[in-house]
Amino acid sequence: MKIAIAHIPIEGLSLREEIDPKELDIDTDIIKLCSPVSVEAEITRITNSITAKLALSGVMLLCCSRCLNEFKLNFEKNIGLNFALDKDDLVLDLLLEIRDQIILDYPIKPLCSTGCRGLCPKCGANLNEGECGCC
Ligand SMILES: [Zn+2]
Ligand SMILES: [Zn+2]
Repeated sequence: MKIAIAHIPIEGLSLREEIDPKELDIDTDIIKLCSPVSVEAEITRITNSITAKLALSGVMLLCCSRCLNEFKLNFEKNIGLNFALDKDDLVLDLLLEIRDQIILDYPIKPLCSTGCRGLCPKCGANLNEGECGCC
C-alpha cells in the first residue's frame, strides 16, 4: 500500500485495498493468512507529518497447539499511526507497518477452543473426538 505524498489532498484521503498474503509474506509453521487482508485507510497530512488510521481485517488459518487441528480465525484491528516526513520523502509505504501490526497479534499458542482436550500422550488420538481407552 503505497501513497504518493504529493497527492494527499487537504481534506485527506480514503483508500481501500486488499493485500495479497504473498505480498505480506508472514506465514509461520502454525499460522497462515488464508484470505487477502482488507485495509481501509484514512490518510491526513498536516505540514510535515502524516496520520494514518487503518482498519485491517482478514482470516488466518491456525494450527491448534494442543490437538494440531487447523481452524480459522477472523481478525480485525484498528490502528493509528503517525509518520514524520522528510522533505525528500515522496512515497509513504504502509506495507511493512501493516505486516508488523498483524504479526503483533499472532497468538503464541493458538487454541481451537479454550476447552480443547488435546492429544492423548500415549496413542496420539484427538481427545476432542472421544476417549481413546488408554487412560
Ligand atoms: Zn485443539
Ligand atoms: Zn490414547
